[in-house]
Parts: sequence; C-alpha cells; structure tokens
Amino acid sequence: MKKNAWIAVIGAVLFLGGWWVKEAYFFSPATHLKRVDAKVNQILNKNKVTERFLLREKSEEKILRGGRVQTLERQYVVGGEFPLNQFPSLFTSVAQKTKLRVVKNSWTKGLTQNEFELVIGWRENPLYSVKIVQRSSIKTSAGKEVPRVDPHAPKIAFVLDDWGYNLNNLPVLNEIEIPMTLAILPHLRFSSKIPASLAGRNYEFILHMPMEAHNGKIRPEAKTLYTDMQEGEIQRTLNEALASVPQLKGISNHMGSKATEDSRLLKVVMEELQKKNLYFLDSLVTPHSVVEQVSQQVGIPFAKRDIFLDNELREEYIEAQIQKTIQQAKEYGSAIGIGHDRAVTLKVIQKMIPQMKAEGIQFVHVSQLVKDRELTASAASR
Ligand SMILES: [Zn+2]
Repeated sequence: MKKNAWIAVIGAVLFLGGWWVKEAYFFSPATHLKRVDAKVNQILNKNKVTERFLLREKSEEKILRGGRVQTLERQYVVGGEFPLNQFPSLFTSVAQKTKLRVVKNSWTKGLTQNEFELVIGWRENPLYSVKIVQRSSIKTSAGKEVPRVDPHAPKIAFVLDDWGYNLNNLPVLNEIEIPMTLAILPHLRFSSKIPASLAGRNYEFILHMPMEAHNGKIRPEAKTLYTDMQEGEIQRTLNEALASVPQLKGISNHMGSKATEDSRLLKVVMEELQKKNLYFLDSLVTPHSVVEQVSQQVGIPFAKRDIFLDNELREEYIEAQIQKTIQQAKEYGSAIGIGHDRAVTLKVIQKMIPQMKAEGIQFVHVSQLVKDRELTASAASR
C-alpha cells in the first residue's frame, strides 16, 4: 500500500476512535449521572442527610443510547428537625452543566409525614431519584451522632372489625400474643363481654360505630348514625353506643360511605369524641371521605386504614393482603391493616406472625400510630 493510503486509514481510525470516545464518555448518560450523583451526595451530606438515614437503595442496569447506565433510587427517612422545605431550592441547579434534566423536584407537607422528591432523567427516562421522608417520630438530637433509623422496625397495627355477635373466635385471640385493636359493634349481645373476656391480654378496644352507607340495601345495624339526624339525635345515638362497650380508646366507622362524606355529621361526632379523649380511625370506605379534614378542624386524633385484609375469605388472598401491609409498613414506617372477626383471618395472621417478626415488624395498637402521627403533624406545623 502506498504511504498516502496508510495515512488515510490511520486518520480514519483516529477519527472514528475519537468520535467513539466522545460518544461513549463525554455524552453518555452514565457520565452525567456520576456527576449528578456526586453533587447530590455533597448537598445531602452538607445537610446531614447521611448514610445513617438510608432506608432503601435500588439500582438497575438500563441500556440507553447503546450504552449501559446504572439507575439509582434512594430513600431516606429523617426526623422532624431537617429543613426539608428548603431542599427543592438546594437542588434546583443540580443537573446544570450536564445533559440530564430535573424531572421532579418537590416538597409536600402531609398530615402524617413530609416528603421531598428529586427525580433526574435523560429526556423521558427517569434515571436517578432521591426521596426523603420526614417523620418527627424519629428521634435525632442535634449535635449528637444521629442514631441510625432502624429500617427493620416498621410498625403494623392490625384492626379486627365487627365483634359483638358471638365469642366464637375468642379462644384464638387468647392464643395470639401480638397487640391488636378490636373494633366492637355497639348494643350487641357480646359487645360488653369481649373486653372483659380478654382482660390482661394485649388488646385495644374501639367502638365500631354503624354509620349510613350510600347503598341503602345493605341492612344497617340498629342505632346507625344517619346524615339526616339532628345534632341532639347524633349525640344521643353516639353516646349510647359508646356506653355499651367498656374500655374504649377510639372509634371507627362500620359501613358509612355516605356518613363519612358528611362534614356536618362528622363534626358533631368528633366534638363528642374530643370531650372523651377518643381517636377516630377512618375505615376509609369511600374515596370522598372527609374524616381527616374534619378531625383536623375539630382537633382530635385521627388515623386511617391502609389495607383491607379479608375482602375475600380465602387464605391465599388474606396472605397476599398481609404481605402488602408489610410492604407498606416497610416503605412508610407504619401501616394499618383492617380485617374482621373471622376464623380464617385470625388463622392467617397467627400463621404469619413468626415471618413478620423475623422481618422485624413491630406490632402496635392504633393509639400508638395516632400518637406518632400527632407528633409528626405538630412538627410539620411548627
Ligand atoms: Zn364493619
């Protein structure tokens, strides 16, 4: 080959090589991602959100522009003293000077927790996300080494509804050793006997108050709260129901898809609960429930159902629902799972206790979660 031909070949090789290096390195999402990650970590560390608070980390390999990219997802849980509301502005410049863009950078203040979320992506592909959940129930004292949040101590409150018709499942309750919350219907033959029969066991009792549903065909319990009742009638019906079950810590709604959308009725109910220092657990039977809003207005402790455990009375179904409850508790720190006074439900819970304990689940009463949530809410409003 002639000399000129060699020069042409070498030139072409160098040109293509240079182009490849440029494409593979300078313009690859992976390179930009590394820069972004370094910058994000710098900001987090500066603001004391360190590895100690890391709850989850997930990484996946993706192919983008012909190259491999490691996506990254991190979730932290921090205490009430972090200035989470300032985080969005801290992170606004983070994708600058890279080919990546900020897809989401938000701070949301909630009743039970605050959340900061940063998502960075390559065009439409989210590649990198940081989520910081703030709960004031997590103790982190200023100046001291911050204790690591125990990712293996998520809390679950199991609630079992519709007690009062009989005592059939009481022997199983006496065998189960975890704290649970029992929601007892008023005025039934065994309404007052259940707390007495479980004396010394670790159960919390709440009134399962029958409330009006949209579907009028469902046979309502006697002495249901209806939306057309006058104030005095609501108070009387509620107070008679409260008097029929001893040792109450709170109430929850039995049915009530119509009544829990009615703020007038709820306000009357909650003002009574306030006098008696009781919480309201929303069974959440309608997406339009205003229980949370009214409880905030009146200022009474509130909680709501996360998962229904036994809408189908099959073991595999209930097991899957409990699995979801565990998942939720791990993700958010706590979860409330509501089942019923049914043999199969109790059987599956009992069967899964060792597994849940092994996974580090802490079992609590609803009142414990209500307390945690109140702390978080008051921290958020400071
Ligand atoms: Zn019920």
